[in-house]
Amino acid sequence: MHKTTAVVTGGAGFLGSHLCDKLLKEGIKVICIDNLLTGNLDNISHLFGNNNFSFIKHDVTNYIYVGGKIDYVLHFASPASPIDYLKLPIQTLKVGSLGTHKALGLAKDKNATFLLASTSEVYGDPIVHPQEEEYWGNVNPIGPRGVYDEAKRFAEALTMAYYRHHGVNTRIVRIFNTYGPRMRLDDGRALPAFVGQALRGEEITVYGDGSQTRSFCYVSDLVEGIFRLLKSNETNPVNIGNPDEITIKEFAEEVIKQTGSKSKIVYKPLPEDDPKVRQPDISKAKKILGWEPKVGRAEGLKLTVDYFKEILLLT
Ligand code: UDP
Repeated sequence: MHKTTAVVTGGAGFLGSHLCDKLLKEGIKVICIDNLLTGNLDNISHLFGNNNFSFIKHDVTNYIYVGGKIDYVLHFASPASPIDYLKLPIQTLKVGSLGTHKALGLAKDKNATFLLASTSEVYGDPIVHPQEEEYWGNVNPIGPRGVYDEAKRFAEALTMAYYRHHGVNTRIVRIFNTYGPRMRLDDGRALPAFVGQALRGEEITVYGDGSQTRSFCYVSDLVEGIFRLLKSNETNPVNIGNPDEITIKEFAEEVIKQTGSKSKIVYKPLPEDDPKVRQPDISKAKKILGWEPKVGRAEGLKLTVDYFKEILLLT
């Protein structure tokens, strides 16, 4: 008998691996595809030996072959932190464009529902605040972040074209800043950078004057929202994130407090095109998915700090 089966591209990454866990928990068979460029087998090593899980090492910018019936294709492959996509600009553009094309082709061939992991970066340095799905964004195509922002914007356009032109059943989630266990300590993002620095007693590097804002979502809330979107019939983009907005300076202070560190904050230049504000408007997700985040920052930060403490002991 056929068991509901999902392909997760980028399944060995931070979000992808949590998504694999969630799908398996929901009784869905998972085929994880990853080229391990920024993903890591450690994130899925606990799943090897599970009969409902398999792993294929493959670069999804090339033709994807998977045998048998597939019900869902979730496209999560991409470098996703500013440092990663600055280091890997061409791969980022390729996986967002060619990779999305191949993943959509697989979904079309298998008559599967396709879900695109898009991003709040499609809003760029936003002029509308908080960001609602109807906002078209303020993106610099030729800036250093353009490789990610434009790849994801293209990916959204391609997804909608496959929906409209080929009748593929599609979903688009716009993911806002997310954190939790399995983030890489060296991915350059604010949270792992601050926690790593605080735990090592190093200076905390706040970029700019720290007045820029972000809104951080704990990973279990995010995957729950994504799963609900997958099961819904919403084809237009949906924001998933935690609207609890904080300045980066306040966030650094929270990390210092949470870790009990003696580290001091130092200020470094603000990277080019760094968004000044970011906060999701989640009215749509609330209304159509009955979803909202449940894990507050104090609780989520503690769980994440505990994870990083373990990692640091091991390294
Ligand atoms: N940031 C910082 N210090 C760091 C790393 C990041 O002050 O060591 C800032 C960064 O400039 C941005 C915010 O923290 O304003 C969030 O950055 P992150 O890389 O986590 O994600 P982004 O939301 O920019 O994609």
